[in-house]
Amino acid sequence: MKGPPCVEATMVERGVNVPQSYRLVRRDARPDGTIVRLRSGASFGGPELAICAGPCGVESREQLRRTAQAVARSGANVLRGGAYKPRTSPYSFQGLGEEALKFLREAADEAELGVVTEVLDPRDVEKVAGYADMLQIGTRNMQNFPLLREVGNSRMPVLLKRGLSATVQEWLLAAEYVLLGGNENVVLCERGVRSFDVATRNLLDIAVVPLLEELTHLPVIVDPSHAMGIARLVPAVAIASVAAGAHGLLIEVHPDPPNALSDGAQSLDCEQFERLMRRLATVADFVGRRLPRAASDGAVSARGGEA
Ligand code: PEP
Ligand code: MN
Repeated sequence: MKGPPCVEATMVERGVNVPQSYRLVRRDARPDGTIVRLRSGASFGGPELAICAGPCGVESREQLRRTAQAVARSGANVLRGGAYKPRTSPYSFQGLGEEALKFLREAADEAELGVVTEVLDPRDVEKVAGYADMLQIGTRNMQNFPLLREVGNSRMPVLLKRGLSATVQEWLLAAEYVLLGGNENVVLCERGVRSFDVATRNLLDIAVVPLLEELTHLPVIVDPSHAMGIARLVPAVAIASVAAGAHGLLIEVHPDPPNALSDGAQSLDCEQFERLMRRLATVADFVGRRLPRAASDGAVSARGGEA
């Protein structure tokens, strides 16, 4: 039992290369921090928050257009929606594939939003990059190394979600794979980790927001929807995430959550999202950040000036 720790300690003392260390993503590689910019104009890592909102899965052209219009009016700047869904059960809705990518591009262009969507398979990276502005690597694929290498070869911005039970070290090393391929446009997304307690879907590790600010130059956003799994709890932790210094949010919004084909229980409806955005403006200001765009007055007056 005594042997291995001694050997390890000796190696560190002698300055032998420790294979687990990350170099490209560490904060001192870029002390001023990285700003990741999408073609659509959205940015992650600067004074402006990135607000990514939309349904868990793209279900139809109309569902997506309605959602895109609503979230844009409320002040979001990136449309999210899964075309390829990584479902626990093979019998659950798997996504509409390339048709959904077309709907995403169309709805986002109409509403002047960027597009972030998940890519599951290394063979689909080029196709998804043809429609999206940002490639999402989902929690179940954080250590899919061929996929990380493939998005590393592309120059498309990458949203790298934290693995279901990944340590910060494992997460940063996954990001290191992408940077090593030559793609520096990586944003980290905390979405909760598995815990002993199932009272919420996952346990939101809000502590990683200030911690990663020290450890890496990469921007960090939070996904309170997948962390909580319960829509009514999402606004409080979204606000807390921005207060903790997150550079943005990823929030599931559906025009009719009870009838969503996936993740309805954690999805805000369009009005709940609008109310959250109004509350966020104050918190953003408090931490020296701002929302990407003002909510349009039309959205509010259409519902009788609700605040
Ligand atoms: C999603 O964003 O819909 C998703 C599947 O997220 P995660 O990979 O965090 O579970
Ligand atoms: Mn989802």
